[in-house]
Amino acid sequence: MDHTRISADAQLRERAARVIPGGMWGHLNAAKLPANYPQYFVRGEGCHLWDADGRELIDFMCAWGPMILGYSDPDVEAAANAQRRQGDVLNGPSARLVELAELMVGTVAHADWAMFQKNGTDATTTCAMIARAAQGRRKILVARGAYHGAVPWCNPYPQGSTAEDRAHLITYDYNDSASLERAVAEAGDDLAGIFVSAFKHDLGKPHELPSPAFAKAARALCDRSGAALILDDVRAGFRLHMGGSWETMGVKPDLAAWSKAIANGHALAAVTGNDRFRQAAAHIFITGSFWTASVAMAASLATIAKLKAIDGPAIMRRMGERLRAGLDAQARAHGVALRQSGPPQMPVILFDDDPERRKGWLFCSEALKRGVYMHAAHTMFLSAAHSEADIDRALEATDQAFAEVARQFG
Ligand SMILES: *Cc1c(COP(=O)(O)O)cnc(C)c1O
Repeated sequence: MDHTRISADAQLRERAARVIPGGMWGHLNAAKLPANYPQYFVRGEGCHLWDADGRELIDFMCAWGPMILGYSDPDVEAAANAQRRQGDVLNGPSARLVELAELMVGTVAHADWAMFQKNGTDATTTCAMIARAAQGRRKILVARGAYHGAVPWCNPYPQGSTAEDRAHLITYDYNDSASLERAVAEAGDDLAGIFVSAFKHDLGKPHELPSPAFAKAARALCDRSGAALILDDVRAGFRLHMGGSWETMGVKPDLAAWSKAIANGHALAAVTGNDRFRQAAAHIFITGSFWTASVAMAASLATIAKLKAIDGPAIMRRMGERLRAGLDAQARAHGVALRQSGPPQMPVILFDDDPERRKGWLFCSEALKRGVYMHAAHTMFLSAAHSEADIDRALEATDQAFAEVARQFG
């Protein structure tokens, strides 16, 4: 693909290499993706993206989660624009703060109160602080391999943080009640909280829904010890259930962390909690320069209202099931073995016998050539803007991508 050398994307990457360390930070560095993946985008509408070179793509990453109703959703943007004309960051919050807290409390099943931040990491960190402040305990349990953000207390990569930053973390295995019990025993009377992901969505691993037994064990262990059950709903929030992802299990957390999709792409995070943790939440010192910004809150009010009105989770489930069934049939027809897992709204597709993900990335880059943006290792995302026609168009591309995988890998 020699023309990529002079593409707009390549030119931006060249300039970035001079003024941005590594060209791009974190998981978004496109150098880690196949060569035909764009780094830069210019526009999004519905479930369609346009990259810096004008290629139109049907998007199954949804901005890595934040987009849930479609890029540039007209109702969300109208609410955001109306608020922007009045003010965004002021000396303090606008009425949108109270309205949004009321809406979260009315929507999220376990919630008696809500607080707002900007990023998912702000929300998970706030949850850990509230849990620790509640009873002056230190130990926080997290599942091995689970991602809860990129600050030192939870950053999974060691560069730039110390072992001491994570001194009071104890790990357990997701969906393994016995290992959770062992971790609780190790924490003893210093147990502040247990973090659980909405479901097991570790990078590059098959995704697993929580088993009812595990969810109930986590709840019971927190009830017995007085520790906080903390649901990290940052990635899954409002895609599986409007009341919170563990409503599908009938288990209520004490605290929950939200971000990604709650304002359809506007920067916003939230912590919801029950009355047992209200006092602690009121007494920790936590703040941010932009945490009361009203535009994102107006966007969130419109996003949540619309998701409820159209039953967003049901639409995403239906579209995800259509995609999954189509991919399964194609894989069988091409004699390619793969495993689709995760809830249909948030799939991950992993090929069998593919330790270095060469099949996975070949499949994705062949799909990308034909206008479909997927990922070979990370959770993908459906949105309420995906239509049957979009799924069917995407499936035309994946059929040819499977053919190429079958041709190269036999
Ligand atoms: C993305 C994510 C976070 C961190 O959110 P940021 O907005 O990137 O800080 C935390 N937990 C989970 C499960 C996530 O997917």
